[in-house]
This record gives sequence, C-alpha cells and structure tokens, in this order.
Amino acid sequence: MEKIINIKTKAKAEFIDITEEVTRAIKESGINDGIAYIFVPHTTAGITINEGADASVKGDILRMLNKLVPYDGDYSHAEGNSPAHIKSTLTGVSLFVIIKEGKLVLGTWQSIFFCEFDGPRHRKAIIKIVKGS
Ligand code: ZN
Repeated sequence: MEKIINIKTKAKAEFIDITEEVTRAIKESGINDGIAYIFVPHTTAGITINEGADASVKGDILRMLNKLVPYDGDYSHAEGNSPAHIKSTLTGVSLFVIIKEGKLVLGTWQSIFFCEFDGPRHRKAIIKIVKGS
C-alpha cells in the first residue's frame, strides 16, 4: 500500500509534524504488523524523527543547522539554495518506522517531521506500508 501526502510549507525553513498523517495511512492500509517507509522526493527537504512534545527542540535543531550551514556561505550552485541541499543531505530523505498491532512503534517523545529547507513550497512525502511480522 502506498500513499502520497501533500504538504504545503509556510516558511523558508520549518519542521512539520506528519506523525498523524502516517498513522492515518497505516489505519487505511489495514496492515497491523510491518514497516512504514517514508520517502521525500525532494533535494531541498528532508525527513527526521525527533522530539515532538517540546516545540523548542525543533526550533533548536533548525537554528543550529543554520549555524552549521549558513545561508551566506561560499557556495557554487547557481540556483542559490545550496544550504537547503546540504541540510537535506544531513537529515536524509527517507526513514522507516515499525508497525506493531496497528500502531507506529515510536518512543514516548518521538514524532516524525517533514523538514522544509527551501520553502515555502508545495511538497510531498510518499508512504509505503509493507506487511510483515
Ligand atoms: Zn538548487
């Protein structure tokens, strides 16, 4: 089962919690045990799992990513968005989550975040749910 979720980002850089959308896709699939793969088909966005309970964590991550990869660095790429490409490589564009008894196996404080690094844009994430025990 495969589902594409559409994400409209609103800022140049932001983390958007998509845990609910992934949970919904799993329910729709009817698969109780298996793996959910999430793939982001973009070169200036990413995906990561981190703390969802305290919103200041995602703010800290974004702020430090901007320090590591500043907007005004010495880049060659003519499009001018090399920092976003680099941050996409740092977070990666895919991850998987285990599905057990119809639920995502996540730690207490974990959420799944779509990472926008060159917004605002219309984005998508592909969720592939595979049955297995
Ligand atoms: Zn580019």
